[in-house]
Amino acid sequence: MTEQGFFYRDTWAEVDLDCISENVTSVKNLLPPDVEIMAVVKANAYGHGDLQVAETALQAGATYLAVAFLDEAIALRNKGIHAPILVLGASRPEDVQMAVKNDITVTVFQKEWLKMAQPHLKQDQKLSIHIKLDTGMGRIGVRKEEELTAIERLISGDSRLVLEGIFTHFATADELDLTYLQQQIENFRQLLSCLKERPRYVHCSNSAAALRFPEVYFNAVRLGIAMYGLTPSLEMEAEIPFPLNEAFSLRSSLVHVKKMNKGDKVSYGATYESKTEEWIGTIPIGYADGWLRRLQGQEVLVDGKRVPIIGRICMDQCMVRLPAEVPVGTTVTLIGKQQDDFISINEIARKLETINYEIPCIISTRVPRIYKKSGKIVELKNYLLPN
Ligand SMILES: *Cc1c(COP(=O)(O)O)cnc(C)c1O
Repeated sequence: MTEQGFFYRDTWAEVDLDCISENVTSVKNLLPPDVEIMAVVKANAYGHGDLQVAETALQAGATYLAVAFLDEAIALRNKGIHAPILVLGASRPEDVQMAVKNDITVTVFQKEWLKMAQPHLKQDQKLSIHIKLDTGMGRIGVRKEEELTAIERLISGDSRLVLEGIFTHFATADELDLTYLQQQIENFRQLLSCLKERPRYVHCSNSAAALRFPEVYFNAVRLGIAMYGLTPSLEMEAEIPFPLNEAFSLRSSLVHVKKMNKGDKVSYGATYESKTEEWIGTIPIGYADGWLRRLQGQEVLVDGKRVPIIGRICMDQCMVRLPAEVPVGTTVTLIGKQQDDFISINEIARKLETINYEIPCIISTRVPRIYKKSGKIVELKNYLLPN
């Protein structure tokens, strides 16, 4: 398979599915056999591609998928995914029909929500539920014992409701100070102890907790960022028990290369001025692709060497200063390996003063994705021209 005929622009993201597979396998080997992996593939699998990541994670041993919204779950069903899927966020009570029809598990986070959802279920329908407990994240979830027992009573009194799981989410599992985390764990255990019966799935760990705290595995972990090969935080980097493999690369090509004279200007505002004779290259990627304006000055790799982005980044293009003349068509690596050098997602996150999670998420669907396995292209996804 080649890129020819799948996209017509020299900018693409590469997703190495072997990396995803290895990361899931490493986590699986870390976990006891009775702890399942829920692969978190929300937000188009953190920008990597929901279907491709879901299939890869399931093949590598994940048994459950999790997304943020019902639409994301339905999209996976429409693409032929049969594995169980949990919607972590709030669904609308009136949409439980869609969840039932598509065999999707929803999160119950409030008694009132459940009461509003009940009238939307038909007599013979079964709605699979995980209860979300708010033990300190302050986002969604049941906070009080009375509310939890009331929900449990509502569920056991309604044969259409099937309680399959219960979970919570940590606010600080990636930090070195464990005080707040311990408080959350205690709150979780306390609330669990009020249940008449524990459901099949009890889960609280995100990637950070899954990599660090075996005492809170219960029987499933929700694996997001680490599956993509990224460290949940720089703070806990030293505690990662095995190497993580970054799956996401971002590449472009030089589409125009020219010699500029001393004093010639580049890009909007004419803020960049050549100091001597300089070779300037143009690459077709800009802020509309998620390559944000604040990345001005960031280095990219050309022929394995670092060159800076100069002048303002435009919506669709930006310019780099080359050490010498380089042929048009030369590959430019913005994220990933090229020869002996590597630009990590963490490096881009640092430049943007944000966390690594944001970076692949904001690379827009205008950028086609190329999927690789064993170094070979196995699939191409062009969101603009779906085949
Ligand atoms: C996004 C999310 C996760 C995954 O977190 P990572 O830090 O990426 O592993 C797990 N649980 C919930 C509720 C989430 O929203």
